[in-house]
Parts: sequence; C-alpha cells; structure tokens
Amino acid sequence: MNRIFNFGAGPSTIPLSVLEEAQKELVDYKGEGLSIMEASHRSKMYDEVHTEAMALTRELYSVPEDYDILFLQGGASLQFAMIPMNLSIGGKAQYVDSGSWSSKAIKEAKIQGIDYEIVASSKDTTYDRIPSDIKFDDNADYAYITSNNTIYGTEYHEFPTTKAPLIVDASSDIFSCPIDWSKVDMLFAGAQKNAGPSGLTIVIIKKELVARAGDKVPTMLKYKTHADKDSLFNTPPTFGIYMFNLILHWLKDNGGIEAIQEKNQTKAKLLYDAIDNSNGFYVGHATKESRSFMNVSYNIKNSDGENNSQLESKFAKEATEAGMIGLKGHRSIGGLRASIYNAMTLDGVQALVDFMQKFQKENS
Ligand SMILES: *Cc1c(COP(=O)(O)O)cnc(C)c1O
Repeated sequence: MNRIFNFGAGPSTIPLSVLEEAQKELVDYKGEGLSIMEASHRSKMYDEVHTEAMALTRELYSVPEDYDILFLQGGASLQFAMIPMNLSIGGKAQYVDSGSWSSKAIKEAKIQGIDYEIVASSKDTTYDRIPSDIKFDDNADYAYITSNNTIYGTEYHEFPTTKAPLIVDASSDIFSCPIDWSKVDMLFAGAQKNAGPSGLTIVIIKKELVARAGDKVPTMLKYKTHADKDSLFNTPPTFGIYMFNLILHWLKDNGGIEAIQEKNQTKAKLLYDAIDNSNGFYVGHATKESRSFMNVSYNIKNSDGENNSQLESKFAKEATEAGMIGLKGHRSIGGLRASIYNAMTLDGVQALVDFMQKFQKENS
C-alpha cells in the first residue's frame, strides 16, 4: 500500500483507520449479508447508523437539546439559498463578506430578492483577514458569517456577538474546535472537508428557526420537512452518513473535540513557524491574527517581495513527486495552500515542513 499525504482542500484526507473499517464492512456489513449502501433507508440496520451519527454529533459537539441536527444534500452551496428562503421574514439579512464563499452566499440572498446588507468586508485587502469592525443589527432577521475561509486561509477565533440569529458556514472547520452555542443559532457544513466524503450536508439549527419558513418554500427546501422526519423524509445519502458516523467514532476514540483542537494547533504552529522562519522565502497570505488552523495559504516570494509563481508551480510539482498532493493554491489567488484538517497527521505536516526547508535551500 502506498498512501500519499493529501493536502487538498476538499474532498480531503480521511483517517486511514476509517477507510479500513469501511473496507472491512463494505461487502458484508456486520454479518448482515449485504453492504450498508445496499440497505433500505427504512431498515433497522441503516437506522442504527443514522441515529448513532445524530447522537454522536450532539454528544461530541455538545449541541444543546433545543437544536435540530439535519442530514441534507445539495452541499453547503444549497444552504446559501435555503437560508434566505427559510429564515428571511421581511426584515433585513446581514452578511460579513470574508471571501469567495461568503460572496456566493450573498449572491443567493440577492437572487431571492430579500433585503440584505454587507456589514463588513475584507475584500479591499484580498480577504487576508477577518474584518475587525463587525456590528450586526440586533433586529436583523439573521446575521451571517463564514467561520473559516477555505481559499484565503483565515478563520474567526471568536464569533461576533449579536441578538440576531447567527448563521455560520463552518464547511471547512466543523468539528475542529468547540462551539459556543450561546452565540450560534445555525451552523452548517458540507461533509467533504472535515467530516467524510461528499454528498452529505450537516445542518445544526435552533428549533425556533426551523419553524420560520413560509408556505411558499418548496417541501424539500424547507428545514421543517427534514426536522419533522429526523432527516428521513426522503432517501438520505446513506453511505455518506455511514462514513460520517465512522469519522465521529474516530473523533471520540481520539479524545473528542478538545483533543483534536490541541492536535490542530500543534500542526498549524509547526507549519506557520516554518513559514515565519524562512526569511521571507515563504510568506503567509493571512494576517497573523486571522490565521486559519485548517487551511494555510502562502506564497513563495522573490527577494523584491513579488510572488514567484514559477517557483510555486515547481514546488507543487516536486511536492507531488515526493508524495504530497493538493498543495496548489485555489485558482482565484494562486500560490500554495496546505489544508491540514482533522484527519491530516502530524507526520504529514512534518513531511511538508521538511520538504519546504529542502526546497528553499535548493531554490534560493
Ligand atoms: C467548500 C465550501 C463550500 C461549498 O461546499 P459544497 O458542499 O461544495 O457546496 C461552502 N463554504 C465553504 C466555507 C467551503 O469551504
């Protein structure tokens, strides 16, 4: 077996033990004589997986009882539209624009024709930080943020406080650190970055918000439809939920959210230190205060401070040859990006840091 280190932003690396468990059970799930992906979503065999994944989400993430946990489809991107459809009630929706994913969410509010407003943005500085001057109106229908900006490598280290319901796109940092639920009313994520394969969207939402949607919202796009049926209104992505459940077990076996947060901090420090100690050869995109623990976006600079895109391409190519893939930055900002989600090992980050130091010696 030849497993490489996958630094891709998503779909992304999955713990080896989880893949092996799935492999072991793939053809004959626990002696039932069929695969979990062949089982009816109404069967007892599947129901146990479904119920366990919900219960473990609540337990590990300390989700209070007055929140529903929903397993949906359509990716995080469908949430951009479902949020204004379900939660706008004729007042104002307020957004923070901290990068491409927030911009896409804002675009859907515009398409819905609701009254929306951008209260803070870091666009002027190429989204290199979380805006510092965020002030939401307590009377807004909802307030919207993106907790981790996957492309630019910035992350909130504290959520803004508002009386308006706070909606958080946590697609790229869900389960990476504890959540203060007294500040958050809805949190959602596509599973494919930190919680398994693609196909599943996790939505954790306060029950009082679930009830908000008007009659004009299509059945499948209404949170209430799914909340009322424990996310079994129609066929859920059963195999994705099965994989998600295995990831949750892996998280629990490894000490839960606090333990993974500590591990994430250690990995991120190793990588940021390597960047900071490179005498300006590598330069991080994000300001230090806004640095992400999940996605580290950086450039290789010439001595005059300009990005050296040729060397960046060479870096990505040689890293691939050395068994480290997915390091090319997003097409919108170029440069390099290492995604170091929960499942990336310390060994993987150490291998990258060693490679960075060797590459610098050979190319400066
Ligand atoms: C990847 C990503 C999305 C889009 O997720 P899909 O599931 O592909 O729709 C949205 N928001 C953030 C922060 C992301 O990282």
